[in-house]
Parts: sequence; structure tokens; C-alpha cells
Amino acid sequence: MEKKNIDWSNLGFGYMKTDLRYVANYKNGAWDEGGLTADDQVTISESAGVLQYAQTVFEGMKAYETMDGRTVVFRPDLNASRMIDSAKRLEMPPFPAERFIEAIRQVVKGNEAYVPPYGSGASLYIRPYMFGSDAVIGVKPSNEYQFRIFVTPVGPYFKGGAKPIVIRISDYDRAAPRGTGHIKAGLNYAMSLHAIVEAHAEGFAENMYLDSATRTKVEETGGANFLFVTKDGTLVTPKSDTILPSITRRSLMYVAEHYLGMKCETREIYKEELDDFAEAGLCGTAAVISPVGKIVDHGREICLPSGMNEMGPVTKKLYDTLTGIQMGRIEAPEGWIYEIR
Ligand SMILES: *Cc1c(COP(=O)(O)O)cnc(C)c1O
Repeated sequence: MEKKNIDWSNLGFGYMKTDLRYVANYKNGAWDEGGLTADDQVTISESAGVLQYAQTVFEGMKAYETMDGRTVVFRPDLNASRMIDSAKRLEMPPFPAERFIEAIRQVVKGNEAYVPPYGSGASLYIRPYMFGSDAVIGVKPSNEYQFRIFVTPVGPYFKGGAKPIVIRISDYDRAAPRGTGHIKAGLNYAMSLHAIVEAHAEGFAENMYLDSATRTKVEETGGANFLFVTKDGTLVTPKSDTILPSITRRSLMYVAEHYLGMKCETREIYKEELDDFAEAGLCGTAAVISPVGKIVDHGREICLPSGMNEMGPVTKKLYDTLTGIQMGRIEAPEGWIYEIR
């Protein structure tokens, strides 16, 4: 496979138009056959449900070239089922899981020239999404929907290694109890933009959101789950019904327990406990893990003992093991690696 002439090592995390995308339409109660198209433009009613009432959900995942030259996708079955959960919550017709995975296969295969070479640190980001496409004006679900997947090559999230970040405890809330915090919906991101722009302006990389009911417990950031390592080496992640169930987090918990022999806990984490942890990180598809060096709570600095220079040792081991599994250097658990070619 002849690769595109792209400066792989200098790619950022942005959109680049590739050759083909997948499109399927839902009309009269059924999804059509769907297929690949070169057309990157979407034409919909000026009153489409997505434009008026934000009826849209999405997913994010990556394709990689492995050490032995295969093109693979990491756990797409979990993205398929999470997107079904998201769609149901917004009264959208779920796109069937088997068709989701087949569509991923078609788009990645159709854009294989854009899959960054092994060792470049870059990968092919995959963005499935769906939206209400026909006209609504009274508040109700759309009758018609479009499901699409595009891909775009992205660089390593951190150029020159992952440096610990400084984050703040936010005064804004991300998700309400019994709301939509647990689904991957654009609406959760729209309302987080003001908080993140403000955080950046004040010199913070991310917002740590607390539970909105009591504002005493740690939830997540705008787009990544938290991981904490205790001083005795236990991996702890927040338990909450209002955080997005990160596939990276679930995979890291498995790796910690089954590959690294660590003790793992998913439980409520109170803000007061932040002073006691040895390491902290954010996890998600984009960066796998971003180490957190400092958490600022209205001027009070909580400095993680792992410091501001590098990832903590346990975080690093988790990172190396999961990325090793993804890149084919370490044997993967059954069913984690979906081979495109
Ligand atoms: C997508 C997302 C994550 C990370 O999930 P992964 O499946 O690991 O990529 C975490 N939090 C939020 C709010 C998200 O939207």
C-alpha cells in the first residue's frame, strides 16, 4: 500500500480531508444500505433536528499500523455499543453494531494510504457520528437521520513526550444527575466550551468537574476520565453515573489488574482525597494518558508527588503496556484488536 506523502511526524490533532467517508441514511423507519462516498459535504434542511435541538451523538477511536505491518482498530465493538446507548438516550434509531463495525472496516480500508506508518507516533482518528437530518420545529425527535464516519490522520497527542499538565477544579458543572453525562453527545461538549476557553485563558490545561449534586466528588474533565494511583500502588477511578464510560479507562483497569498485577478500585473519590494520591492522569482515545502534575482548587495547589517533569512511574507502566498492546508489541486480550488487513 502506497502511503500518502504526508509529514507524519509533524501532524497535529486536526481535521484533514481524506478520500472516502461512509454514509447511511435512516428514512421511513429503516437504515438504507449505506456505503462509501468521496463527497465530504453534508446537505440537510435548514430546520434539521441537529441544527435546532442538537440531536446528535458521536464516537472516537483510532486505527494504527502495528509493528508487523497490520492495520488494526482497538475495540470497535465497545464504540458500537456505546453509540447505541447514546442514540437511545436522544431518541435516535441505533445504528446496528455489526453494521457499525463493517462500516469502520470499509472507511479504514478505503483510506489505508492515510494510516500513519508504525513508529511515527501518529494514527488514523476515526469519527463516527449521527444526527437528525429532516426538518423539525416543534420539539420532537427527527424522523430522518444520517450516520457518517470520516477518518483523519492525527499526530501523537504529545510532541516530545507527555509532560504533566496543570488543571483546575471548575465552578461550572458538566453533567446533572440523571442527565446526559454518560452518553457521547455533542450537547455535552457545546456547554463545556465556555469553561475550557476560560480555563485556558487562566493558564490551565483542563477542568476537573465535580459531581453537580454535592460538589464534593471528582467526576471527569470535558473529554477524559480520571485515573489515580494511591501511595500503596492501587489504581483508583471515580464511580459515577454521570461520567462517560471511557474505553481507554476500562482497558487500563484491565491491564492494571491482569498484566501488572495491581489492585484496582472503582469508587467515589472525594475532593479531599486528592492530597493523598501519588499519581494522577486523564485517559481517553486521543492521548491514552495525560499525566496530571498539579490540581488547583481556587488558589490552593495540590501537587502530585510525581511532579511536573514526567509521568509517574505507575502511570508510565500503564501507558507503555496499553500502547504496546495497541501497536502489537504485547499480546492483546482476546477480541481487543480488530484487524482491517
Ligand atoms: C470520549 C470521552 C472520553 C474518553 O473515552 P474513550 O472511549 O477512552 O476515548 C471521556 N470523557 C468524555 C466526556 C468523552 O466524551
